Amino acid sequence: MAPDKISVRCCIAGGGPAGMMLGYLLARAGVKVLVLEKHGDFLRDFRGDTIHPSTLEVMHELGLLDEFLKLPHQKVYELNAQVGEMRLTIADFRHLPTHCGFVAFMPQWDFLNFLAEKAARYPNFNLMMQADVTGLIEESGRVVGVRAKTANGEIEVRADLVVGADGRSSIVREKAGLKVKEFGAPMDVLWFRLRRNAADPAATMGRFDSGRIFIALNRGDYWQCGYVIAKGQFDEMRRQPFETFRAAIVKLAPYAKDSVQELRGWDDVKLLTVRVDRLLEWFRPGLLCIGDSAHAMSPVGGVGINLAIQDAVAAANVLFEPLREGQLAIEHLRRIQKRRELPTRVTQGLQVAVQRRIIARVLVETEPLKPPLALRLLAKIPFLRRIPARIVGLGIRPEHVDPALAQE
Ligand SMILES: Cc1cc2nc3c(=O)[nH]c(=O)nc-3n(C[C@H](O)[C@H](O)[C@H](O)COP(=O)(O)OP(=O)(O)OC[C@H]3O[C@@H](n4cnc5c(N)ncnc54)[C@H](O)[C@@H]3O)c2cc1C
Repeated sequence: MAPDKISVRCCIAGGGPAGMMLGYLLARAGVKVLVLEKHGDFLRDFRGDTIHPSTLEVMHELGLLDEFLKLPHQKVYELNAQVGEMRLTIADFRHLPTHCGFVAFMPQWDFLNFLAEKAARYPNFNLMMQADVTGLIEESGRVVGVRAKTANGEIEVRADLVVGADGRSSIVREKAGLKVKEFGAPMDVLWFRLRRNAADPAATMGRFDSGRIFIALNRGDYWQCGYVIAKGQFDEMRRQPFETFRAAIVKLAPYAKDSVQELRGWDDVKLLTVRVDRLLEWFRPGLLCIGDSAHAMSPVGGVGINLAIQDAVAAANVLFEPLREGQLAIEHLRRIQKRRELPTRVTQGLQVAVQRRIIARVLVETEPLKPPLALRLLAKIPFLRRIPARIVGLGIRPEHVDPALAQE
């Protein structure tokens, strides 16, 4: 059967934070846009549930903040860590020059559903779930559309611009033959939930101990936990009795000694493979990549969603007029990469430095850990905590919605 054919101005592959925000902004500006998302819903776990002050500021600029904050969330005003026996605060978001001096922890599906619901008000917006982009359509060296498998068969979408927002295993960037620079990562993360009891500590906490790193995010009635392991170590761990893993968690989080028994085995633990990479060129004629598709982010600092949203805002600011008028040129795509490459380079540079200098060392350390000088200074001089807060909460070059786009 011949595939169904659809024609839009902009076709976005991937309905994650980058794709949904860009789709929403373009539709709001009057551009006919189609987002193709391969899953049937946004209800996936393990994707990072942090909404940063810069994203909350974008919501404010769009007039959506008050309604958005009515969704259930936890406000995190500071980031805390325990290194060896020393507890310290490493970032304080309260002083940021934004409407919200906190990170909102919210399940990512709530955030994406909210954007989908708001976008659905615009007749130009279309979201197709269970639409798996499988290839690009090219004519004379230009990308002119995509092919996708849907629940109802194959479709062909023609568009002035195809945007790859399909995450770190992007099929779009692979099919486009865009060159990738890999930075490597010494670790992977085991991701799981533990029940949270009323007597448990309240703080969202990173715990660094010799040979072990454990992150516990307070999500109200449960802890979202990340247990950092050396890359490739998971197979060896799975050969050990599961009890060994439970005991390792309790050593780092004694309050979890009962709830850890509720983990039934390795099936309750998800391996998240960490990678850090960046495209040399984020575009080709008719095609642009943004978010993790252009630059896969490490979980260090929990800033990947922030960057994905910032990319979407920067892209929408540049693209909404030329796409609406049918006058898209390669220069527009170049301008987006130019604007977003510096923040990406700096952020990834910091992440790679933390991975190599701190995480890789902690994972092989056998002696009791002492906090490095930089952390001891943060503990002693509260003013300094504003620096990491700025890097994590706002990012290197915070984007603002173009006033013409912000007005409905
Ligand atoms: C262990 C770990 C923990 C992390 N924790 C955090 C955190 O706490 N905070 C934070 O800010 N960042 C975190 N990150 C990074 C963050 O997950 C990413 O940087 C961010 O999700 C990127 O957003 P995106 O929209 O570019 O891509 P994604 O969120 O990956 O979204 C891509 C979307 O495209 C869809 N898709 C993929 N292929 C196709 C296809 N062929 N056709 C159609 N759709 C497709 C996917 O289903 C998905 O919905 C973490 C990363 C890791 C590895």
